[in-house]
Amino acid sequence: MNLKNFLLLDILKGFWTTLRYMFKRKVTLLYPHQKGPLSPRFRGQHALRKYINGEERCIACKLCEAICPAQAIVIEAEPRHDGACDDGSRRTTRYDIDMTKCIYCGLCQEACPVDAIVEGPNFEYATFTREELFYDKEKLIENGDTWEPQIGTNIKADETYR
Ligand code: SF4
Ligand code: SF4
Repeated sequence: MNLKNFLLLDILKGFWTTLRYMFKRKVTLLYPHQKGPLSPRFRGQHALRKYINGEERCIACKLCEAICPAQAIVIEAEPRHDGACDDGSRRTTRYDIDMTKCIYCGLCQEACPVDAIVEGPNFEYATFTREELFYDKEKLIENGDTWEPQIGTNIKADETYR
């Protein structure tokens, strides 16, 4: 047995390292109670946005559907005749995203001329079943309503960054 082993120097060195780091600022986070910063360009859960007056932004141009490389988006549309606004402009009657196909490339939001479909900041939407990840228009609009304050802030921050 050499002297280094006899004096347990490696163990003492380990204790000294522990002692030093005990009083330093922690780099780990207690997720989910603490969360790290997210880029305004983070591409998370999809959402369909509305204008401030409550009108849907989407004009059913289908550019997002056409550009999606995963063919995850399905849109059906017809002229709008909903009584309150009977101007014949196109609106979606169906807007589905199969989130199990999506590869989060962001091309749908890049293609959208009116910032209607966006990938918001929400990344906590894991589900127990695949079916829950087949989003319809109602779910996407609900996501938009929930996350609009953060989405709006992120879009502004991203524009100043460009
Ligand atoms: S992020 Fe990409 S893959 Fe996902 S729906 Fe949009 S275009 Fe399709
Ligand atoms: S979400 Fe945007 S790109 Fe897609 S159909 Fe609506 S307006 Fe067009």
